[in-house]
Amino acid sequence: MSSTEPTVFTRIIAREIPADVVFESDTVIAFRDIAPKAPVHLLVVPKTEAYANVAELAAADPALLADVVAVAQSLADAHTDGEFRLVFNTGASAGQTVFHVHAHVMGAETGGTLTEGSLAE
Ligand code: 5GP
Repeated sequence: MSSTEPTVFTRIIAREIPADVVFESDTVIAFRDIAPKAPVHLLVVPKTEAYANVAELAAADPALLADVVAVAQSLADAHTDGEFRLVFNTGASAGQTVFHVHAHVMGAETGGTLTEGSLAE
C-alpha cells in the first residue's frame, strides 16, 4: 500500500466500508472491532489519519488524545459497567496492523470480569 492510499479506518469514516458505528463527532469515530478479542471490543479513532500511532498523536495534538480517552470512558459507561482496558498497539512488532492511530476499548459484559489477556496474571 502506498502512503497516499487511505487507511481502512479512513474508508470506514467515508462510509466506503461498512462498520457498526457506535459514536461519531466532528473529530472522532468509534465502531466495533471486526474481530473482537473481548465481549466488548470497540475502536476509537481520530478522523484525521495524520498520526500513525499514539505517540505521534500525543506529541502533536494532546487535546485530541484526551478526546479519545473521554470517548472511551463514555463508551464503557454505555456498553459495560464503566470499567475498561485501553490499548494502543504501537508498531508492527507490538501487534499494530493499521497505521492510523486508534484505541482499543475492551471490557467485560456488564457484571462480568475481563480475563482475556490480563496483564495482572
Ligand atoms: P491494531 O492491530 O492495528 O492494533 O488494530 C487494528 C484493529 O482493526 C484489529 O483489531 C482489527 O480486527 C480491526 N480491523 C481491521 N480492519 C477492520 C475493518 O474493516 N472493520 C473493523 N470494524 N475493524 C477492523
